[in-house]
Amino acid sequence: MKEVAIIGGGILGLAIGYELSKSNTNYKISLFEKETAIGKHQSGNNSGVLHCGLYYKPGSLKAKLALEGIKEMITFCRDNDIQHEVCGKIVVASDQREIKLLDDLAERGKLNGLSGLKFLNAEELKIREPNVKATKALLVPEEGIVSYKQVMDVMAAFIKSAGGEIYLNNKVIGLSKLNENASLLKTDQFEKTFDLVINCTGLFSDRTYTSLTKHKSPIKILPFRGEYMHIADQYKQIVNHLIYPVPDPQYPFLGVHFTRMVNGGREVGPNAVLALKREGYKNTDFSFSDALEALTYKGFLNFLSKNFKFAVGEFASSLSTKAFVAKAKKLIPDVEEYMFTKGGTAGVRAQAISPEGELLMDFNIIKENNQIHVLNAPSPGATASLSIAKYIIQNYI
Ligand SMILES: Cc1cc2nc3c(=O)[nH]c(=O)nc-3n(C[C@H](O)[C@H](O)[C@H](O)COP(=O)(O)OP(=O)(O)OC[C@H]3O[C@@H](n4cnc5c(N)ncnc54)[C@H](O)[C@@H]3O)c2cc1C
Repeated sequence: MKEVAIIGGGILGLAIGYELSKSNTNYKISLFEKETAIGKHQSGNNSGVLHCGLYYKPGSLKAKLALEGIKEMITFCRDNDIQHEVCGKIVVASDQREIKLLDDLAERGKLNGLSGLKFLNAEELKIREPNVKATKALLVPEEGIVSYKQVMDVMAAFIKSAGGEIYLNNKVIGLSKLNENASLLKTDQFEKTFDLVINCTGLFSDRTYTSLTKHKSPIKILPFRGEYMHIADQYKQIVNHLIYPVPDPQYPFLGVHFTRMVNGGREVGPNAVLALKREGYKNTDFSFSDALEALTYKGFLNFLSKNFKFAVGEFASSLSTKAFVAKAKKLIPDVEEYMFTKGGTAGVRAQAISPEGELLMDFNIIKENNQIHVLNAPSPGATASLSIAKYIIQNYI
């Protein structure tokens, strides 16, 4: 029996634990999560969207795993009675410049293997989304919504039923190598020997890498907070599908969009605000060590010098509801501040950045001796979690 430690109880750590327990009874899973419950960070605070591979560079790991991942996730939901709905998405171009970007996006989607893409004429758009204003609109029928919380609960229950352990309130603090094949893993509660250690710590993947390998991490994580507002129930009929803007291809963020939730609610968001704390969910959250680490990293300074306007614009939408609503108005001009309820949720994205200041678009997974590190797993990491897990098992274990 091989002892496997998974660090991080987000959807990736859980999906790997689930797939490993399912595929081979020779692995004993121990999953360590520092919080009192699973899914407290990115996986529990995202848009809940099932992405199908529209945006990603053809041939990239993201493109491949998103396409496979959405199919696997929908099958998983069907098999386990998890709330989900393939409600379709409409991507909206708002001016002539965006028409070209939308055409490019549709081409990309086709190259990635999407077969249902369809440009809607004005009449078709009016029937589907009467409140949307578009210069051109693309229907992506494959996409949908899901409760990732329920997905994680089912994965966790399966790991335990297969004999694995989930240790909550256990922060992994270090590791010492015993020999080529075995390591002693230390948490703030106890220590244990493992044959294989898998780092799925999201916002801390770079620090965990350094703590486990004693090497400098090849990437750095920058936290980008995404804030949401809820649409008051009496206005929720203004949104029927998922409604997205055409994203700026320079960034891995998709832009403020309207989302249907599986509980019937509607949300708008998220923006992408550089956070001054890795797990900083409010715009007043500040960590001196996180801020200092970012400010003394040349990749961060390179990023800021090239993207200052973007960073300021996103920050403004965090401070001012008016600026936030202006982003939503681009898609549905009739929305007004009074239609939103105060105090929406927020999530913080773990976005890897290179020393040159480039935001890394693709998933980044590396193996060093008996350690596997998931260094970058941004959106659609939740949709693709099962296919990422299978990819890791096939290629690294
Ligand atoms: C605002 C937002 C919107 C998004 N929207 C979507 C979407 O609609 N669809 C989609 O597919 N994807 C979306 N994503 C991306 C998706 O949520 C992530 O790709 C995915 O959740 C990553 O999962 P993870 O397990 O790697 O990270 P996380 O969920 O962050 O899990 C990492 C876990 O590691 C734990 N941890 C950290 N350090 C330690 C330690 N030392 N010891 C023990 N535990 C530790 C943390 O507490 C945490 O629970 C979105 C993300 C955000 C933030």
